[in-house]
Amino acid sequence: MKIKFSFYNQLIPIEETSEYLLYNILNGGLRVLDDSTGRLLLDLSNLDSFNVEDYNEYHDVIQELLDEGFLVDFYIDEKESYQQDYLDSQLAKYRNNSHIGLTIGTTILCNMGCPYCFQTVKPNKTLRDEKVINGIVTYIGGLIQKAPVKKWAGLSIMWYGGEPLINMDVIENLTTKFTALCSQHHIPYDASMVTNGILLTRETWQFLLKHQVNSIQITIDGAKEVHDSYRPLKSANGKNYEKILENLSMMPLGISATIRINTDKRVAATLPKLLDDLKDYGIWPQRQNQVSLKLAWLRGYAGADTSNMRFLAQQEFFDIENQFSAMLVERYNKWAKSNSREMAKQKWKLPEKQNDCATYVSPYFFTFDPEGGIHKCWETIHEKEKSSGSTVFKNWDVDDFKKYLNYSRTNVHPVCYNCKFNPICEGLSCAYDTIHTLSEQNFPCTPWKTEIDRYFKEMYLRMKQNPDQVVLHKPEQRAHQTHSNK
Ligand code: SF4
Ligand code: SF4
Repeated sequence: MKIKFSFYNQLIPIEETSEYLLYNILNGGLRVLDDSTGRLLLDLSNLDSFNVEDYNEYHDVIQELLDEGFLVDFYIDEKESYQQDYLDSQLAKYRNNSHIGLTIGTTILCNMGCPYCFQTVKPNKTLRDEKVINGIVTYIGGLIQKAPVKKWAGLSIMWYGGEPLINMDVIENLTTKFTALCSQHHIPYDASMVTNGILLTRETWQFLLKHQVNSIQITIDGAKEVHDSYRPLKSANGKNYEKILENLSMMPLGISATIRINTDKRVAATLPKLLDDLKDYGIWPQRQNQVSLKLAWLRGYAGADTSNMRFLAQQEFFDIENQFSAMLVERYNKWAKSNSREMAKQKWKLPEKQNDCATYVSPYFFTFDPEGGIHKCWETIHEKEKSSGSTVFKNWDVDDFKKYLNYSRTNVHPVCYNCKFNPICEGLSCAYDTIHTLSEQNFPCTPWKTEIDRYFKEMYLRMKQNPDQVVLHKPEQRAHQTHSNK
């Protein structure tokens, strides 16, 4: 049998222990190889093909590696088969058990004026018009009837803005209408919100619970000094950073929160102080079951003034993210020890298999602007001319979204098609960014491309030295990946 070393393999020598790590980017498989097997694989990786019969003394291990996809039939075109499988699975997802995902901008107004955000560039409208509100519900009702889906898996709403809590009336109004529609068609309903947290009073938390908002994302850009300068309130008086922490400390059970920390060099320098404050307010680690923290790589919005910011290179951000996750474990364990809780382990994160942004590529994900325009990306909701051209006053028609549905990470550029990091490349998940920024000189490459060997080696050695402190973490592939991973 003629076979070859998989195109998607990464073979990482660990000189310190005379071993090799073999990782398959496409299927997520990971093996530790002894020195002689590792050297064999290194030799095989340089061959176009080889015959199993010529390596009889390695018969068993070669068979195992074949079974696990590290070695493959020579005649399989792996890139083509990955592309075909990817496109097929995307189509199957839309036909069989599909999800409706709506991002609804309740207003484009915001009580903050963050320089990196589009709201500072183009202030705009609020969703109040009853015709538009009813139009949205009628549009979704029509979609449920007309789309060729066997069973709907759910309707998920993401309340978005501006600051969505500036317009709570529409949340109340639409929640009543959507939940009635869902019970009529037996579709599970859930809602989430992206908010800056300033308006989350005790009453507002109760409002969210009542209106089935079960998860929120709040942005805090570092400790007070940096946060208040990067995310200034528009009105001169009033607390900002402290107000958000006060509000978060009142979060009721039944809601979970992700604190998103947009990180540049200045924000990174204040992360220990931010963690001190979160602890002082009883937010984290005390509520670690409800609250998670996530760094995001801070980049500016075109046209916004970001002269104050000190952006990180991608590799720098990758390192800071890893240092931050070690810092979280260390702090959590300190707290856990004095509160008789189980200790946490440092996670060795394997790369997450990526999906294209569902808002862009799914025929059942939409962003509505306050005038009823339908966008296939929430980055454009303030720009009428960049809408899909369709509106909630028409019937749903898949043909209205053809140009979006044709986006696939597998066909954006020949360089990406021929890149083994394509399945885990976060840069290609955001269709909007990829389409607008990818050029012959500029590819939105994943940091794994340059960091995988260094990171895997470091974590492997750490795990080997302290097996009770490090755990291998294979992320689940998310069913719907949308703007939240940006
Ligand atoms: S992830 Fe990209 S394509 Fe998707 S909604 Fe956000 S900006 Fe648009
Ligand atoms: S953007 Fe870079 S890392 Fe991602 S698939 Fe293309 S070439 Fe590979």
